[in-house]
Amino acid sequence: MEPGKPALLGGSPVFEEFIPITRPLLPSHEELRDDFNRILQSNVVTKGSYLEAFESRLADFLGVKHVVGVSSCTLGLLLVYQSAGFGSGDVVVPSFTFMATVHPLPYVGATPVFADIDRATFCVAPESVVEVLSSSTVGIVAVHNFGNPADIHGLEKIAADRGIPLVFDAAHGFGALFEGRPVGSNGLAEVFSLSPTKLLIAGEGGIVATDDDSVAKHVRLGREYGNPGDYDSLFAGLNARMSEFHAAVGLRSLEMLESAAVARNEWAENLRSRLGELPGISFQSIRSGDRCSYKDFSVVINEAEFGLDRDLLARALRAENIDSRRYHDPPVHTHTAYPDGGSMNLTTTSYTSSRIISLPVWSKTDDRILDGICLAIERCHQFADALGDSAPSHFGT
Ligand SMILES: *Cc1c(COP(=O)(O)O)cnc(C)c1O
Repeated sequence: MEPGKPALLGGSPVFEEFIPITRPLLPSHEELRDDFNRILQSNVVTKGSYLEAFESRLADFLGVKHVVGVSSCTLGLLLVYQSAGFGSGDVVVPSFTFMATVHPLPYVGATPVFADIDRATFCVAPESVVEVLSSSTVGIVAVHNFGNPADIHGLEKIAADRGIPLVFDAAHGFGALFEGRPVGSNGLAEVFSLSPTKLLIAGEGGIVATDDDSVAKHVRLGREYGNPGDYDSLFAGLNARMSEFHAAVGLRSLEMLESAAVARNEWAENLRSRLGELPGISFQSIRSGDRCSYKDFSVVINEAEFGLDRDLLARALRAENIDSRRYHDPPVHTHTAYPDGGSMNLTTTSYTSSRIISLPVWSKTDDRILDGICLAIERCHQFADALGDSAPSHFGT
């Protein structure tokens, strides 16, 4: 099909229906009905056999000694940061991430020190981590951004040389492969999210994966008020448990994880090959031997070459009934919550966050949808000048 006039200029929209940014692959009602019946008949709705089975299945899958299910990735990170001794100093963390990577740091008493990302991988750049290290640095946090495995070896070397722990926010990590193996067994611990925009879904929930006995013990106690069972709490813990219902959904979702990851990679390959024909669009680079989960499919728009800036493209796509996001803009170091972070000069983070757009990526490929998304973006490029004239510059989305 030839691209016609963009909907924003009065053409008819590529899609009649709304195309959401993601569409989760969820277990069927039939499967869940059996599980939920069993849970209800057992009268054990939390701390039961589904959680136990989910944890042991995941420990096998990830190849780690301990897996602890928690109520969210955010609380899993908080308990891991606490266990890693981050409470007493500065922790290096990327700014180009979802805010939940950073927020648990102040809760445990740590100060975030923001590092820049690599222009190609969108993950924290080891050379930037080295630059911001100081005598008060007590740890490093890295993110497998959008599901692209971080520079694990580079970061492990820095952490080992310094003798400080390295923690991975692996919220986007399920479905990703590092050197051919599932992401999840590196650093002191890796923490996953099971919320609905990720590939492995429990409704809400998080997973802490670690080979470290004391981290596992701390998280198990910490998700249970710090109570070892005798009601003499060992520290001020939380309720961060995962219910049986969530574990049951997670177990079913685990059976579909590989197919979700394969579909998202097919989807991404399709968009890469077709959008790669247009000038001014660059893609996240994935190291050979690794697999991105494509929790998000995010591209960087160079306005001078593409003809439109990211915000106008997002607006034009919205008119075509296509959803998009600006992950991660604004970057965390500029958030109101971090008044001391905004003064930092993170060149690549600023460059990338102001030009990035996340396009729809689903856990099931659909040629009609893929074709329509490409067609819409081709239209926008072809009619870039007219779109630019029609819109006041810096019009937000
Ligand atoms: C989603 C997400 C989280 C938070 O996960 P929850 O399970 O919602 O707490 C943390 N870090 C990143 C990078 C995320 O995308």
